[in-house]
Amino acid sequence: MINQTPQHDHYDVVIIGAGMVGATLACALTHQLTDPGKILLVEASLIHTGKAAQPGLDARRPVLSASSVDYLRTLVLWQAMQAAATPIHHIQVSDQGHFGGVHMQGSDARVEALGHVVENPVIGQALNQALLDSAAIELCCPVQVTAVKPQPGSMLLSLQADDKVYSISAALVVLAEGGRSGLMQQLGIHINSHSYGQSAVIANLAMLQPHQHIAYERFTGKGPLALLPLTTHAGAQRMALVWTHPQDEIASVMALSDADFIARLQADCGQAAGQILQVGKRAVFPLTLQVAEEQFRPRLALLGNVAHTLHPVAGQGFNLALRDAMALAANVRQSLQARQDPGSVLRLQAWWEVVQKDQLRTITFSDVMTRLFSTNNTAMAVLRKLGMIGIELLPPVKQHLARQAMGYQSPAVRL
Ligand SMILES: Cc1cc2nc3c(=O)[nH]c(=O)nc-3n(C[C@H](O)[C@H](O)[C@H](O)COP(=O)(O)OP(=O)(O)OC[C@H]3O[C@@H](n4cnc5c(N)ncnc54)[C@H](O)[C@@H]3O)c2cc1C
Repeated sequence: MINQTPQHDHYDVVIIGAGMVGATLACALTHQLTDPGKILLVEASLIHTGKAAQPGLDARRPVLSASSVDYLRTLVLWQAMQAAATPIHHIQVSDQGHFGGVHMQGSDARVEALGHVVENPVIGQALNQALLDSAAIELCCPVQVTAVKPQPGSMLLSLQADDKVYSISAALVVLAEGGRSGLMQQLGIHINSHSYGQSAVIANLAMLQPHQHIAYERFTGKGPLALLPLTTHAGAQRMALVWTHPQDEIASVMALSDADFIARLQADCGQAAGQILQVGKRAVFPLTLQVAEEQFRPRLALLGNVAHTLHPVAGQGFNLALRDAMALAANVRQSLQARQDPGSVLRLQAWWEVVQKDQLRTITFSDVMTRLFSTNNTAMAVLRKLGMIGIELLPPVKQHLARQAMGYQSPAVRL
């Protein structure tokens, strides 16, 4: 049900933002329930069945971990993405200028695929179709939430649709707005932020050879570089590039001609994946680590980029957010089925206790990887080399890393 005007004055749950995280949460809250409660999803962009207009559903090609695929399959969302998803059977991690490296395969963690690469527009289309098909989710778009204020017994929200303003209340507000709309500042929630001084260039590449379902992660001293397998398109063998550079070099990299860009990239990534033939449209993302100081308050929970934004090197941002969202959905569903208050601080504290350890472990893993592999410092390079040898020689360590990358370190949540 899609509208620009909210249909009720009060809701059990209002989700702000229908990016990957907010949209998936809405699906999880309502999955297979005949009476899931009053759930409203407010999105500033238009939601339709064509190419997704939400700003986060852009040119990125995220790696969905095995645990994310399990969750999306449970929510019957994966079925619409699967045909366009590329499984990763092997991951090769190497260090530019050094022999050897780490080689991981599905069997290290007893799975066939370590993850899947899916293009954001494919994810967007599957999510939007599910939202539009759902009778249980009320969609308000294109509508901007301009204020969120606590009041006795509920949260008060102001919604702006063109020149009209609406006031509604909610037992629980989930902020999944990606962190750009200023609601966090309004609520006085502080964000701890560390800039890596790097930006990532992303682009699709046409390759001479087939990728054979191998993902390459290479550390160049200036920052990590990833080549991810993609489906073939119009006969072209394709891979997705995520290439990190120091901030002050990014403008010159973007200004390179395609031929010079390919030559520089080929020098950095070596010949393991074969010859690069063409590069598609490039986009740049500045990279920071941001973690909100509070992730819940009475009647408020934070999810996705607004709660934590990670460096993309380890491909963990959405995967972690999805695990947070599934845990929150399970918690809220239980409350609503038992006719309890889903916004009570005790319930939200219980959710936080479930996700806190996973967040700490995943954020630390991603941050350590980034720092360790973004430097030419000799001592760090030796440590990096020893680390890689250690991982190769110690199967339990390798298995542990593979399970972390796949999102299997925490027990799965059941809805
Ligand atoms: C280069 C790059 C590569 C990445 N690769 C991976 C990867 O391999 N694996 C992985 O797991 N993660 C990856 N990530 C991270 C992933 O992209 C993010 O975790 C994810 O996009 C976060 O989505 P979100 O829903 O929290 O936010 P967003 O996508 O920003 O969505 C927020 C939504 O809220 C809406 N909105 C904002 N304010 C308001 C308001 N006031 N009212 C109403 N609506 C509002 C916006 O319109 C938007 O649709 C990568 C990130 C980058 C930059």
